[in-house]
Amino acid sequence: MPIATNIATNIATSFAQPRRLAGPRPAPRAIATFLALASAALFSATLSTAAQADTSIVMLGTGTPVPDGERAGSGVAVIHDGEAYLFDVGPGVVERASQAQERMGIEALAPVNIERLFLTHLHSDHVLDYPELLGTYWWRREQPISVVGPVGTEAMSQGVYTMLAEDTNTRLADKSPVTNPAAARVLVTEIEKEGLVHESPGISIHAFGVTHGDWEQAYGYKVVTDDLTLVISGDTSLSEEVRRQASGADVLIHEVISRQGWEQLSPQWQAYHQYAHTLSDELAELAREARPGTLVLTHVLHYSAPRESVLDEVRADYDGRVLLPDDLDVIE
Ligand SMILES: [Zn+2]
Ligand SMILES: [Zn+2]
Repeated sequence: MPIATNIATNIATSFAQPRRLAGPRPAPRAIATFLALASAALFSATLSTAAQADTSIVMLGTGTPVPDGERAGSGVAVIHDGEAYLFDVGPGVVERASQAQERMGIEALAPVNIERLFLTHLHSDHVLDYPELLGTYWWRREQPISVVGPVGTEAMSQGVYTMLAEDTNTRLADKSPVTNPAAARVLVTEIEKEGLVHESPGISIHAFGVTHGDWEQAYGYKVVTDDLTLVISGDTSLSEEVRRQASGADVLIHEVISRQGWEQLSPQWQAYHQYAHTLSDELAELAREARPGTLVLTHVLHYSAPRESVLDEVRADYDGRVLLPDDLDVIE
Protein backbone atom coordinates (compact mmCIF):
# COMPACT_ATOMS: atom_id res chain seq x y z
CA MET A 1 0.00 0.00 0.00
CA PRO A 2 2.61 2.58 -1.04
CA ILE A 3 0.19 5.22 -2.34
CA ALA A 4 -0.64 7.11 0.82
CA THR A 5 2.99 6.96 1.83
CA ASN A 6 4.14 8.26 -1.53
CA ILE A 7 1.63 11.09 -1.53
CA ALA A 8 2.61 12.04 2.01
CA THR A 9 6.32 11.92 1.17
CA ASN A 10 5.79 13.97 -1.95
CA ILE A 11 3.78 16.59 -0.14
CA ALA A 12 6.36 16.81 2.63
CA THR A 13 9.12 17.26 0.04
CA SER A 14 7.11 19.80 -1.87
CA PHE A 15 6.34 21.84 1.21
CA ALA A 16 10.04 21.84 2.08
CA GLN A 17 10.99 22.90 -1.44
CA PRO A 18 8.12 24.80 -3.01
CA ARG A 19 8.25 24.65 -6.77
CA ARG A 20 6.30 26.36 -9.45
CA LEU A 21 4.12 23.85 -11.21
CA ALA A 22 4.58 23.86 -14.97
CA GLY A 23 1.71 23.33 -17.36
CA PRO A 24 -1.58 24.99 -18.06
CA ARG A 25 -3.05 24.98 -14.59
CA PRO A 26 -2.94 28.35 -12.82
CA ALA A 27 -1.22 28.49 -9.44
CA PRO A 28 -4.39 28.87 -7.29
CA ARG A 29 -5.78 25.71 -8.81
CA ALA A 30 -2.53 23.87 -8.16
CA ILE A 31 -2.62 24.99 -4.57
CA ALA A 32 -6.22 23.91 -4.21
CA THR A 33 -5.31 20.53 -5.65
CA PHE A 34 -2.37 20.29 -3.30
CA LEU A 35 -4.53 21.00 -0.28
CA ALA A 36 -7.04 18.43 -1.49
CA LEU A 37 -4.21 15.94 -1.83
CA ALA A 38 -2.86 16.74 1.60
CA SER A 39 -6.23 15.95 3.09
CA ALA A 40 -6.51 12.90 0.81
CA ALA A 41 -3.18 11.65 2.13
CA LEU A 42 -4.27 12.18 5.72
CA PHE A 43 -7.57 10.49 4.97
CA SER A 44 -5.77 7.59 3.31
CA ALA A 45 -3.39 7.30 6.23
CA THR A 46 -6.38 7.12 8.58
CA LEU A 47 -7.91 4.38 6.49
CA SER A 48 -4.67 2.43 6.27
CA THR A 49 -4.22 2.44 10.03
CA ALA A 50 -7.66 0.86 10.15
CA ALA A 51 -6.24 -1.89 7.86
CA GLN A 52 -8.64 -1.09 5.02
CA ALA A 53 -7.67 -0.89 1.39
CA ASP A 54 -8.16 2.60 0.07
CA THR A 55 -9.34 3.42 -3.42
CA SER A 56 -8.75 6.81 -4.97
CA ILE A 57 -10.04 8.33 -8.18
CA VAL A 58 -7.92 10.75 -10.21
CA MET A 59 -9.51 12.72 -13.02
CA LEU A 60 -6.77 12.67 -15.66
CA GLY A 61 -8.84 14.16 -18.45
CA THR A 62 -12.13 16.05 -18.18
CA GLY A 63 -12.35 17.29 -21.77
CA THR A 64 -14.46 16.54 -24.82
CA PRO A 65 -13.75 16.52 -28.58
CA VAL A 66 -13.90 20.35 -28.45
CA PRO A 67 -10.26 21.55 -28.24
CA ASP A 68 -9.52 22.98 -24.79
CA GLY A 69 -6.02 23.96 -23.70
CA GLU A 70 -6.91 23.39 -20.04
CA ARG A 71 -8.21 19.85 -20.44
CA ALA A 72 -7.03 16.50 -21.69
CA GLY A 73 -9.51 14.19 -23.42
CA SER A 74 -11.33 11.55 -21.42
CA GLY A 75 -9.40 9.67 -18.77
CA VAL A 76 -10.21 8.45 -15.26
CA ALA A 77 -7.73 6.55 -13.10
CA VAL A 78 -8.83 4.34 -10.24
CA ILE A 79 -5.95 3.55 -7.89
CA HIS A 80 -6.43 0.46 -5.79
CA ASP A 81 -3.83 -1.42 -3.79
CA GLY A 82 -0.99 0.33 -5.60
CA GLU A 83 -2.30 -0.44 -9.09
CA ALA A 84 -3.80 1.89 -11.65
CA TYR A 85 -6.95 1.04 -13.59
CA LEU A 86 -7.25 3.54 -16.44
CA PHE A 87 -10.59 4.20 -18.10
CA ASP A 88 -10.11 5.79 -21.56
CA VAL A 89 -6.98 7.43 -22.83
CA GLY A 90 -7.94 10.62 -24.64
CA PRO A 91 -5.41 13.14 -25.95
CA GLY A 92 -3.16 14.45 -23.17
CA VAL A 93 -4.08 11.78 -20.63
CA VAL A 94 -0.62 10.17 -20.55
CA GLU A 95 1.02 13.53 -19.80
CA ARG A 96 -1.53 14.05 -17.02
CA ALA A 97 -0.60 10.61 -15.66
CA SER A 98 3.05 11.67 -15.57
CA GLN A 99 2.03 14.86 -13.79
CA ALA A 100 0.06 12.83 -11.24
CA GLN A 101 3.18 10.78 -10.56
CA GLU A 102 5.54 13.74 -10.37
CA ARG A 103 3.36 16.21 -8.47
CA MET A 104 1.23 13.90 -6.39
CA GLY A 105 3.55 10.95 -5.87
CA ILE A 106 1.20 8.40 -7.38
CA GLU A 107 3.74 5.88 -8.64
CA ALA A 108 1.03 3.69 -10.15
CA LEU A 109 0.46 6.47 -12.71
CA ALA A 110 3.99 6.56 -14.07
CA PRO A 111 3.15 5.63 -17.69
CA VAL A 112 5.23 2.43 -17.60
CA ASN A 113 3.42 1.34 -14.45
CA ILE A 114 -0.05 1.56 -16.06
CA GLU A 115 -0.83 -2.04 -16.93
CA ARG A 116 -4.63 -2.02 -17.17
CA LEU A 117 -6.69 0.00 -19.63
CA PHE A 118 -10.45 -0.13 -20.16
CA LEU A 119 -12.02 1.64 -23.16
CA THR A 120 -15.63 2.82 -23.16
CA HIS A 121 -15.77 3.27 -26.94
CA LEU A 122 -13.44 4.24 -29.75
CA HIS A 123 -14.29 7.93 -30.35
CA SER A 124 -11.10 9.94 -30.87
CA ASP A 125 -11.43 11.97 -27.67
CA HIS A 126 -11.23 8.69 -25.73
CA VAL A 127 -8.36 6.96 -27.57
CA LEU A 128 -6.00 9.48 -29.18
CA ASP A 129 -3.35 8.88 -26.49
CA TYR A 130 -3.44 5.12 -27.06
CA PRO A 131 -0.25 5.30 -29.19
CA GLU A 132 1.26 7.53 -26.51
CA LEU A 133 0.52 4.99 -23.77
CA LEU A 134 1.81 2.06 -25.83
CA GLY A 135 4.88 3.88 -27.12
CA THR A 136 6.06 5.82 -24.08
CA TYR A 137 9.15 4.16 -22.60
CA TRP A 138 7.80 0.71 -23.53
CA TRP A 139 11.36 -0.62 -23.61
CA ARG A 140 11.55 -0.09 -19.83
CA ARG A 141 8.16 -1.67 -19.20
CA GLU A 142 8.09 -4.87 -17.11
CA GLN A 143 4.63 -6.01 -18.21
CA PRO A 144 2.62 -5.53 -21.40
CA ILE A 145 -0.57 -3.50 -21.02
CA SER A 146 -3.83 -5.44 -20.77
CA VAL A 147 -6.59 -3.67 -22.66
CA VAL A 148 -10.33 -4.33 -22.41
CA GLY A 149 -12.48 -2.61 -25.00
CA PRO A 150 -15.16 -2.93 -27.63
CA VAL A 151 -14.80 -4.80 -30.91
CA GLY A 152 -12.32 -2.76 -32.94
CA THR A 153 -9.76 -2.48 -30.14
CA GLU A 154 -7.55 -5.20 -31.65
CA ALA A 155 -7.60 -3.58 -35.11
CA MET A 156 -6.77 -0.21 -33.54
CA SER A 157 -3.85 -1.84 -31.69
CA GLN A 158 -2.52 -3.31 -34.94
CA GLY A 159 -2.65 0.19 -36.40
CA VAL A 160 -0.53 1.50 -33.54
CA TYR A 161 2.01 -1.30 -34.06
CA THR A 162 2.25 -0.27 -37.72
CA MET A 163 2.68 3.36 -36.74
CA LEU A 164 5.49 2.50 -34.31
CA ALA A 165 7.10 -0.34 -36.33
CA GLU A 166 10.33 1.54 -37.10
CA ASP A 167 10.74 2.51 -33.45
CA THR A 168 9.96 -0.97 -32.17
CA ASN A 169 12.17 -2.80 -34.65
CA THR A 170 15.12 -0.47 -34.18
CA ARG A 171 15.00 -0.63 -30.40
CA LEU A 172 14.75 -4.42 -30.50
CA ALA A 173 17.64 -4.73 -32.96
CA ASP A 174 20.13 -2.25 -31.55
CA LYS A 175 22.06 -2.39 -28.29
CA SER A 176 19.19 -1.09 -26.09
CA PRO A 177 18.83 -3.42 -23.12
CA VAL A 178 15.07 -3.74 -23.61
CA THR A 179 13.48 -4.88 -20.34
CA ASN A 180 10.78 -7.05 -21.89
CA PRO A 181 10.42 -7.30 -25.69
CA ALA A 182 6.83 -8.52 -25.26
CA ALA A 183 5.91 -5.12 -23.79
CA ALA A 184 5.91 -3.65 -27.30
CA ARG A 185 2.51 -5.30 -27.75
CA VAL A 186 -0.67 -5.14 -25.66
CA LEU A 187 -2.95 -7.96 -24.57
CA VAL A 188 -6.40 -7.16 -25.94
CA THR A 189 -9.70 -8.53 -24.71
CA GLU A 190 -12.60 -7.39 -26.85
CA ILE A 191 -15.85 -7.39 -24.89
CA GLU A 192 -18.16 -10.05 -26.28
CA LYS A 193 -20.85 -9.75 -23.68
CA GLU A 194 -21.60 -7.45 -20.81
CA GLY A 195 -20.54 -8.45 -17.32
CA LEU A 196 -17.35 -9.15 -15.44
CA VAL A 197 -14.24 -8.03 -17.34
CA HIS A 198 -11.69 -8.00 -14.53
CA GLU A 199 -11.35 -9.48 -11.08
CA SER A 200 -8.41 -9.47 -8.69
CA PRO A 201 -8.27 -9.41 -4.89
CA GLY A 202 -10.35 -6.52 -3.59
CA ILE A 203 -11.56 -5.24 -6.97
CA SER A 204 -13.98 -6.31 -9.68
CA ILE A 205 -14.92 -4.48 -12.86
CA HIS A 206 -18.07 -4.99 -14.91
CA ALA A 207 -18.86 -3.58 -18.35
CA PHE A 208 -22.42 -2.66 -19.30
CA GLY A 209 -23.87 -1.37 -22.56
CA VAL A 210 -24.86 2.27 -23.02
CA THR A 211 -26.50 4.16 -25.89
CA HIS A 212 -24.20 6.53 -27.74
CA GLY A 213 -25.27 7.64 -31.21
CA ASP A 214 -24.59 5.04 -33.87
CA TRP A 215 -21.98 3.09 -31.88
CA GLU A 216 -22.92 -0.56 -31.84
CA GLN A 217 -20.68 -1.03 -28.83
CA ALA A 218 -20.31 1.66 -26.21
CA TYR A 219 -19.78 0.72 -22.58
CA GLY A 220 -19.96 2.07 -19.09
CA TYR A 221 -18.04 0.41 -16.26
CA LYS A 222 -18.88 -0.45 -12.69
CA VAL A 223 -15.90 -0.76 -10.36
CA VAL A 224 -16.43 -2.42 -7.00
CA THR A 225 -13.58 -2.42 -4.49
CA ASP A 226 -13.53 -3.31 -0.82
CA ASP A 227 -14.24 0.31 0.09
CA LEU A 228 -15.94 1.92 -2.93
CA THR A 229 -18.50 1.39 -5.67
CA LEU A 230 -17.91 3.59 -8.71
CA VAL A 231 -19.87 3.82 -11.95
CA ILE A 232 -18.42 5.45 -15.07
CA SER A 233 -21.04 6.27 -17.68
CA GLY A 234 -18.75 6.66 -20.68
CA ASP A 235 -20.43 8.67 -23.43
CA THR A 236 -24.15 7.99 -23.45
CA SER A 237 -27.57 9.42 -24.03
CA LEU A 238 -29.90 9.20 -21.03
CA SER A 239 -29.55 5.55 -20.07
CA GLU A 240 -31.80 3.38 -17.97
CA GLU A 241 -28.89 0.96 -17.61
CA VAL A 242 -26.66 3.67 -16.09
CA ARG A 243 -29.46 4.57 -13.68
CA ARG A 244 -29.75 0.92 -12.66
CA GLN A 245 -26.00 0.39 -12.27
CA ALA A 246 -25.52 3.65 -10.35
CA SER A 247 -28.33 3.01 -7.93
CA GLY A 248 -26.76 3.31 -4.48
CA ALA A 249 -23.20 3.67 -5.86
CA ASP A 250 -20.74 5.79 -3.89
CA VAL A 251 -19.63 7.70 -6.97
CA LEU A 252 -21.18 8.20 -10.41
CA ILE A 253 -18.93 9.84 -13.01
CA HIS A 254 -21.25 10.94 -15.81
CA GLU A 255 -20.92 12.83 -19.06
CA VAL A 256 -23.21 15.83 -19.59
CA ILE A 257 -24.22 18.55 -22.04
CA SER A 258 -25.43 21.95 -20.83
CA ARG A 259 -29.10 22.63 -21.60
CA GLN A 260 -28.27 26.32 -21.99
CA GLY A 261 -25.45 25.59 -24.42
CA TRP A 262 -27.51 23.00 -26.31
CA GLU A 263 -30.39 25.44 -26.86
CA GLN A 264 -28.09 27.72 -28.84
CA LEU A 265 -26.99 25.01 -31.27
CA SER A 266 -28.38 24.47 -34.78
CA PRO A 267 -31.31 22.04 -35.03
CA GLN A 268 -29.02 19.44 -36.63
CA TRP A 269 -26.51 19.59 -33.79
CA GLN A 270 -29.32 19.61 -31.22
CA ALA A 271 -30.70 16.42 -32.75
CA TYR A 272 -27.28 14.74 -32.77
CA HIS A 273 -26.55 15.61 -29.16
CA GLN A 274 -29.90 14.39 -27.91
CA TYR A 275 -29.18 11.15 -29.73
CA ALA A 276 -25.67 10.77 -28.34
CA HIS A 277 -25.38 12.64 -25.03
CA THR A 278 -27.21 13.43 -21.79
CA LEU A 279 -28.66 16.88 -21.13
CA SER A 280 -28.08 18.40 -17.69
CA ASP A 281 -31.75 18.22 -16.66
CA GLU A 282 -31.95 14.61 -17.85
CA LEU A 283 -28.92 13.79 -15.69
CA ALA A 284 -30.52 15.48 -12.70
CA GLU A 285 -33.56 13.27 -13.16
CA LEU A 286 -31.37 10.16 -13.38
CA ALA A 287 -29.49 11.19 -10.22
CA ARG A 288 -32.74 11.78 -8.33
CA GLU A 289 -33.61 8.14 -8.94
CA ALA A 290 -30.16 6.55 -8.56
CA ARG A 291 -29.03 8.71 -5.58
CA PRO A 292 -25.25 8.16 -5.91
CA GLY A 293 -23.21 9.34 -2.95
CA THR A 294 -21.39 11.80 -5.22
CA LEU A 295 -22.24 12.78 -8.78
CA VAL A 296 -19.17 13.83 -10.78
CA LEU A 297 -19.73 15.80 -13.97
CA THR A 298 -17.17 15.28 -16.72
CA HIS A 299 -16.97 15.38 -20.53
CA VAL A 300 -18.92 18.63 -20.25
CA LEU A 301 -20.22 19.88 -23.60
CA HIS A 302 -21.22 23.47 -22.95
CA TYR A 303 -20.50 25.36 -26.18
CA SER A 304 -21.36 29.08 -25.81
CA ALA A 305 -22.67 28.68 -22.26
CA PRO A 306 -20.20 28.87 -19.34
CA ARG A 307 -18.89 25.45 -18.30
CA GLU A 308 -20.27 26.02 -14.79
CA SER A 309 -23.79 26.25 -16.26
CA VAL A 310 -24.06 22.46 -16.04
CA LEU A 311 -23.47 22.59 -12.31
CA ASP A 312 -26.28 25.12 -11.80
CA GLU A 313 -28.57 23.21 -14.14
CA VAL A 314 -28.05 19.86 -12.41
CA ARG A 315 -28.30 21.38 -8.95
CA ALA A 316 -31.56 23.11 -9.88
CA ASP A 317 -33.21 19.69 -10.10
CA TYR A 318 -31.07 17.56 -7.79
CA ASP A 319 -30.11 18.17 -4.18
CA GLY A 320 -27.35 15.55 -3.80
CA ARG A 321 -23.60 16.13 -3.82
CA VAL A 322 -22.39 17.23 -7.28
CA LEU A 323 -18.80 17.98 -8.32
CA LEU A 324 -17.38 19.60 -11.46
CA PRO A 325 -13.70 18.62 -11.38
CA ASP A 326 -10.74 19.77 -13.44
CA ASP A 327 -7.88 17.64 -14.71
CA LEU A 328 -5.80 16.11 -11.88
CA ASP A 329 -8.49 16.64 -9.26
CA VAL A 330 -8.90 13.73 -6.86
CA ILE A 331 -12.42 12.58 -6.05
CA GLU A 332 -13.03 11.86 -2.41
ZN1 LIG B 1 -18.20 9.47 -27.80
ZN1 LIG C 1 -16.43 11.69 -25.95
